Amino acid sequence: MGPLAIGIHGGCGTLARDLLTEAEWAETNRHLGDSLRAAWKILTAGGSALDAVEAAVVVMENSPHFNAGYGAALTETSEHEHDASIMDGATLAAGAVCATRRIRNPIRAARAVMEKSDCVLLTSSAADDFAARAGLEIVENSYFTLERRVKALASLKARKARGTIALASEAEKHGTVGAVALDGRGNLAAATSTGGFNNKPVGRVGDSPIIGAGTYARNGVCAVSGTGQGEIFIRRVAAYDVAARMLYAGRSLEEATGDVIDILGKHMIGAGMVAVDAAGRVVVPFNTLGMARGWIADDGVVHVATHDDVHRLSAA
Ligand code: ASP
Repeated sequence: MGPLAIGIHGGCGTLARDLLTEAEWAETNRHLGDSLRAAWKILTAGGSALDAVEAAVVVMENSPHFNAGYGAALTETSEHEHDASIMDGATLAAGAVCATRRIRNPIRAARAVMEKSDCVLLTSSAADDFAARAGLEIVENSYFTLERRVKALASLKARKARGTIALASEAEKHGTVGAVALDGRGNLAAATSTGGFNNKPVGRVGDSPIIGAGTYARNGVCAVSGTGQGEIFIRRVAAYDVAARMLYAGRSLEEATGDVIDILGKHMIGAGMVAVDAAGRVVVPFNTLGMARGWIADDGVVHVATHDDVHRLSAA
């Protein structure tokens, strides 16, 4: 078995440290650790990178601490619309859903689109219906709503009315979750899931379900999942740009992701990524105050962080 790797992000819209209690930060870090362990268990048992990234994302979708699945951002009409995608670096197969309203775990629906349909991307109620037919768990839209998000939406609407939207923190606005993995057979995979932006227009779709923009995986090169204002990731084809720089310009993973974060930053947006290369090196660059993130090194030690300090949790 070759080297194994897992890396995750929980979005670059991390809250300032003083906005959550110690206990809430501890729980956020614990959920990052749970996500990594779920993936690592699969990888160390000889499972696939695809299964690993899906499992890692499901844990974060089920956590209230990230903007995906339960606890996701609200649209301008106080509802939830989710975007997700998954890509298999071995075959370049991919699946995605966007603007879904009733699928408990949108990443599972993206996987089902990849494996059980001839499509790459299914939208809105068609995606909800497809997921139901595929036997996935369906919930009321209100299942996803947290009081914290309702308050954030009200404050963003007030800022918009006052013309001070530019002063809103990254955390007030957005977030996403994502995972990348390398399995023992050398296969790479990437997965991304998001509620998008607080106060986003109904029907707005970001980069997360767009292959090449928010998610990309190609064996022998890299797997990438991004977070930050999706419109710019789409225009810059950001995830694929990382792979292209490695493939055609001979850049290392660290250099290629650094280049792309710099370019995204020139658009004055907060941006972050988790990426892994074919040798299992994981990088988690970002240009914001913090980014929820984590990885497991060769020794099996679980590393998680939200701001500068990296916590080492017990071995997986
Ligand atoms: N990329 C996500 C979107 O535009 C949001 C984020 O990652 O913060 O939907």
